[in-house]
Amino acid sequence: MRLILLGAPGSGKGTQAQKIQENFNLVHISTGEIIRENLKNKTQTGLLAESIINKGDLLPDELVVEMVKDILSKQEVKDNFVLDGFPRTIKQAEALDKITQIDKVIFIDVNFDYTKDRILKRRTCPLCKKTYSDTLVCPNCNVTLIMRSDDNEETINSRFKVYEEQTKPLVNYYKQKNLLYKVDGSKTIEQVYKQIEFILNEGKV
Ligand code: AMP
Repeated sequence: MRLILLGAPGSGKGTQAQKIQENFNLVHISTGEIIRENLKNKTQTGLLAESIINKGDLLPDELVVEMVKDILSKQEVKDNFVLDGFPRTIKQAEALDKITQIDKVIFIDVNFDYTKDRILKRRTCPLCKKTYSDTLVCPNCNVTLIMRSDDNEETINSRFKVYEEQTKPLVNYYKQKNLLYKVDGSKTIEQVYKQIEFILNEGKV
């Protein structure tokens, strides 16, 4: 199965992608996570990314497309993946169309006030990368959770602006291709996952 998870910052894409990965045996590809690893390891991409991420902007399309193309060329990933945070622009979506076919695009629909609050409470485990909002220590890895440098009020506002202007048009892009499935992202993690599971197991809602 070749999936895309689409949604605003804080809509729960990462959390749901991890559940899909575990239950459907797909490779979870998070471009944000890959970029953050580059940042941590101070690679060329990481050095370029630092100021862009902290401003809430997007990295150049060509760079991110090459990154994803590289991963999708691997035999074990090719037809078995869930993309989280990519594509984020129409240009990226058009480039992806040339690389592979997509089976379903899940759009996690949730409003800004709700997700902003979620992002400000969000903490990530530096080891397993899972996110939590109700604890300061990862229950699986037993290490202190960290806050992302771009999860602050100012950066969140610009990430939302970028989302509205550059990423939201993808909803129509995939609707026109008859690939879009919408879920209500304001529900609990389990309730959102149930909606996704239904779509992946059966048909359109
Ligand atoms: P995320 O973890 O998906 O929220 O991404 C964090 C940040 O990484 C974004 O705000 C962008 O600066 C950058 N990023 C992630 N995915 C992409 C992408 N597909 N295109 C451009 N920049 C990206």
